[in-house]
Amino acid sequence: MYSTSMSTRMIVPLLSLLLCDPTFAQVGEPSASTAILFVHVNVIPMDHDRVLRDQSVLVEDGVIKAVGSVISAPLHVRVVDGHRVKFLSPGLADMHVHSDTSRDMAVLLANGVTTVLNMGGARNSFMTHTRSAVNRGDIPGPHIYTGFLVDGTPEYGYFFVTTPAQASALVSLAKTNGYDFIKVYNNLSPECFYALADEGRIQGMPIIGHGVTSVGIERQFAAGQIMVAHTEEYLYTVFFKPGSDPGNRAPSPNQIPDAIALTKRYGAFVTADLNTYATIARQWGKPAVVDDFLGMPGVRYLDPDDRISWRGGLYTSRKGDLSARLAFLKLFTKSLSDAGVPLITGTDTPAIPGLIPGYSLRQDLHALEEAGLTRYEALSAATRTPGEFIAKAKPGSQMFGTVTVGKRADLILSDANPLDDLSTLEKPSGVMANGRWHSATELQRLLDGIAAKYEAAARLQRLTRRSPRSITHPKSDVAH
Ligand SMILES: [Zn+2]
Repeated sequence: MYSTSMSTRMIVPLLSLLLCDPTFAQVGEPSASTAILFVHVNVIPMDHDRVLRDQSVLVEDGVIKAVGSVISAPLHVRVVDGHRVKFLSPGLADMHVHSDTSRDMAVLLANGVTTVLNMGGARNSFMTHTRSAVNRGDIPGPHIYTGFLVDGTPEYGYFFVTTPAQASALVSLAKTNGYDFIKVYNNLSPECFYALADEGRIQGMPIIGHGVTSVGIERQFAAGQIMVAHTEEYLYTVFFKPGSDPGNRAPSPNQIPDAIALTKRYGAFVTADLNTYATIARQWGKPAVVDDFLGMPGVRYLDPDDRISWRGGLYTSRKGDLSARLAFLKLFTKSLSDAGVPLITGTDTPAIPGLIPGYSLRQDLHALEEAGLTRYEALSAATRTPGEFIAKAKPGSQMFGTVTVGKRADLILSDANPLDDLSTLEKPSGVMANGRWHSATELQRLLDGIAAKYEAAARLQRLTRRSPRSITHPKSDVAH
């Protein structure tokens, strides 16, 4: 029952009677209203494995202000009615993307992704314009965190440093430019890695990323690295001797307990990117698989530049097969989860052929469930645990990842309980991120607009033989 006490704030049932035109929440522009009231929703808070039936959730200024069957709300509030049948759960986090356009941000949002961590290579306009515009709620997209990728040699084509002085200076440069993290890469020298870690600690720029061959994950953790960007980093720096060449062999499962123990000792987070590795394995030495990827329906939402890059066949000329390693990583991921190592989802979209923004995260959830994680565990890796990761790595940040009071209102409204069927999140009735509510209609309109733009770009490209980048990428990416 709702409270009947009177105050300056209205009582929820009256509001829902007065304002709940069923079409109201389903049409129109994304809400710029600062207050949104969800009524008659079944809440999946994701703080524990539980469902709270027939609740109201009040969001003000992008933050969850109240959750309960009895809450009061301000007079001028936009109401979204779940009619007791819809479910409200935390938005999803893809903590490893290389997307850096406003269009990718919209595609991610339309797929229920409300948080991303860009793990390197973002163009400058993304950092200077798109990121802040999205995070302010001015343009649609997930909340964006960013890591500055740094390597020790030019081998992989990334920004690199060769002296500790350069490494320290780079941390300041990255901070000045709005990055949240330093992402370390394979070829850093030990001196440069430690300089990044030391300066990162001083500047509040935590170290995340790959295993550094010359250092090794254990010493990286000891120096303060808080997150590993792929489970397969353990193959390269823990299970096999760094720099050795085991081919595509899988390690012995007997090595798993030690790897878990060292991770737990330092409280590090691990990116559970099972679908990413499975997708790499599928196309390993098989060009026809990439053609299949390019025929997937979701490709109409994939930037023409990425389609060209996929066609380049990053892995299609490789030899052998990765199935033994994939089977090992499934077991390793399940073992990490069982041991309570905090796992976060991350997909590497769209850099790896086959991984469409948003779609890749659903596939990752599915892969985690297939590996034996419960749906609650899989969904935790995409909601609560990324929130815990940011809370620990960047103290003072707005917290997110659960539907509880005080958290950022990253929300998905769905037709079914995602803890019964994760695929219900693939067709959200609406998504809230960065203080904006986007109905299903609005999200579809966003997707349609992007597909039309890409189709027009492809047509123009065929006519003029210009590169798609010169057509689809305006000077400032904010203009979309
Ligand atoms: Zn990556």
